Amino acid sequence: MTHNQLDIFAAGARRLQMTESIDLAIQSLQAYGTSHEHWGIAWSGGKDSSATLTLIVWLLDTCRIPRPKSLTVFYAETRQELPPLALAARQIMDELAERGIRVEVVTAPMDKRFMVYILGRGVPPPNNNTLRWCTRQIKIDPMEQALRARLDELDGQILMITGVRQGESAIRDQRIEMSCSKDGAECGQGWYQKVLPNASGLRGRLATLAPLLHFRVCHVWEWLRHWAPLAEFGDWSTAAIADAYGGDEAEEVNARTGCIGCPLAQEDNALDTILVNPQWAYLAPLKRIKPLWRELREPQHRLRKAGLEILKSGKAAANPQRMGPLTFEARLMGLERVLGIQAEINAAARAVGRPLIDLINAEEESRIRELIDLQTWPDGWDGDEPLATTVMDTVYANGAVQPRLFSEAEL
Ligand code: SF4
Repeated sequence: MTHNQLDIFAAGARRLQMTESIDLAIQSLQAYGTSHEHWGIAWSGGKDSSATLTLIVWLLDTCRIPRPKSLTVFYAETRQELPPLALAARQIMDELAERGIRVEVVTAPMDKRFMVYILGRGVPPPNNNTLRWCTRQIKIDPMEQALRARLDELDGQILMITGVRQGESAIRDQRIEMSCSKDGAECGQGWYQKVLPNASGLRGRLATLAPLLHFRVCHVWEWLRHWAPLAEFGDWSTAAIADAYGGDEAEEVNARTGCIGCPLAQEDNALDTILVNPQWAYLAPLKRIKPLWRELREPQHRLRKAGLEILKSGKAAANPQRMGPLTFEARLMGLERVLGIQAEINAAARAVGRPLIDLINAEEESRIRELIDLQTWPDGWDGDEPLATTVMDTVYANGAVQPRLFSEAEL
């Protein structure tokens, strides 16, 4: 389906104007939407998926596109959203409820949530764009489960609409990237587009469509800031989303949308922009989260396999002496730091009458402490492994051992 979309959009080599962009979105929804009775929208509260959601609902309300038999909005609540975006999402959810649109809030189970997984279970923060566990665990897997449950209630397929957006040049190149680090894309949307249709239990029951694929980022800002808030376009609370990213319709502000302090993003650009706004300046302690994740990846906070690791298959693991989970001390240190940041922000919020935040809520805190008290280690680790700073002989994947050159006392 995506290739056919590309055919439609490939014609758009020239710079598309806003109305032309919306017309193309209408065309793609008319072409593919009509062959599906049930639609779903994968929404994370970021700029691209919020623009997609509000535009589609406006198009439906004004009969510019045919109405499906059912429409379900799946809001992917990771518990890591930037506070202004989380608030805007709540307002938009109210606006959807006023229209009678079904919204399912999709959140990972307690032990799989970002904070609980790191600080309770001891899995180190992600640091690798290709092997990261976080997107799958806090965004894709919960969405997959919610979709499966919804499909079981419905007859037929769901057309899952995503906010994947590539802009004109990529459309011309016939490339669909799923990387969230690319061109300010929204983390997770590309995965919804590419990974979900192939998930077990969803294969053959799910088609995907990205009706804003051709939108340039300035069209997204234009819609969020100027069009969608007008009564004639739906009276949506979307301006706050554009404000949060500093997006201006006149500029190609290509802000990446993701979690607070995402360890994979180079910079905290979105957070930096938010903090410039005096109303949100009290959130400044959030800047300490990204360095905390970096610090927790350091060897002094982690265990390491001592030698060659033999897998269940009987084969030796490719990376002997790999670094692994966080020590209990490191987890408690991380927990106290995050709670400290939260307390500091909420004290400032109360003083100036601004919204409070909950980076870690009471239920999550108690589960983190419980997992630590239970001395929980991630799969494949039992806690007997040495601290990662321990000086050891070097073991290679073929079993060869190179003795250390110096004794510990000499170092
Ligand atoms: S925004 Fe960053 S931390 Fe959040 S899911 Fe994506 S890669 Fe992981």
